[in-house]
Amino acid sequence: MSQELSFINRVKKVFFNKFALPRVKRVYTLEDSVNDLEDSFAFSDESVARFDIPIEFGRREGVEVPLTRTTIKHILTCMKNMKRAVFDLKKNPKNPKKQFEKKDLEELEEFVKTVNVSGIGFTKVPRKLIFESKAVAYENAILLVMNMDNEIIGTSPSKKSLKNIWYTYDKLSVASNKIARFLRKKGYGAHASPPLGGLALYPKLAHNAGIGEFGYSGILITPINGPTCRLAAVYVSAENLPMKEENEHSWVRDYCEQCRRCIKECPPGAIYETPIKKEAGRVTHIDNEKCFPYFGNNYGCTVCIKVCPFNNTDYYKLKEKFEKQKT
Ligand code: SF4
Ligand code: SF4
Repeated sequence: MSQELSFINRVKKVFFNKFALPRVKRVYTLEDSVNDLEDSFAFSDESVARFDIPIEFGRREGVEVPLTRTTIKHILTCMKNMKRAVFDLKKNPKNPKKQFEKKDLEELEEFVKTVNVSGIGFTKVPRKLIFESKAVAYENAILLVMNMDNEIIGTSPSKKSLKNIWYTYDKLSVASNKIARFLRKKGYGAHASPPLGGLALYPKLAHNAGIGEFGYSGILITPINGPTCRLAAVYVSAENLPMKEENEHSWVRDYCEQCRRCIKECPPGAIYETPIKKEAGRVTHIDNEKCFPYFGNNYGCTVCIKVCPFNNTDYYKLKEKFEKQKT
């Protein structure tokens, strides 16, 4: 079985490197063209390079490329929406509105539900959180959260959970462009940023937007659906977004301290016992050199989400229980 599998995977890798990767790179070049826009908001000296999953799949020996008919379909939708996000920038109004009207905000909150977005948050984008060589059209971000299916993620690592991850990427990439179109129609400038790759560090932006707190797995734990979500953004010309002053989820770190389940159960032991502090206030929870090969060869792994108590228990119930324990 492993003989046949390794032959199939070799064929997949050749296909991926010859046909898929050059197309992915063309999309990246298109993304970089946002730097040429007048008034675009670009990366800074403190920015880091994006950890690029397709490039990593292509370059690493012994790591499978998880391609199936379904994942190819979802990847193509994601790439189409990454291109659309850039092409549609020319449809932005010449003098976009800079102030959000209350009624528009209420309508936005209703609209996002119609495209299956589970929650939103607002923040300014610090340049250092934009990835090296990338730019965004506006300094203000609407963060989008889309839930994955908790029960299916509970089967990780599995073909089913990999499919659910790609399904969520697909729907969220479509949603980000639909939300950008919605905003344009209302007179705002908008730049969709689909979930795949991303132009900026979404988890940190979502944290700044008060959407959740980082668990010890490095994944944002949210009241919306624990760690079982994907993130994307829409950058927007409106400057008066209702940004949160404080993040009310910092208690999650204390919960993690007594839990540590993801650290114990990560199959290749890739989650650091003590997160590593890096330059410009960044913190790393995961050793990518250990995580990535396992992730690649085991359907995108996701064990750290599956075992997290927040995957299958309501955030507020866990909070209540945790607070009672302390008293
Ligand atoms: S995805 Fe898997 S290998 Fe990577 S950190 Fe999570 S549990 Fe560990
Ligand atoms: S598994 Fe436990 S330690 Fe890890 S992120 Fe979830 S709550 Fe925190």
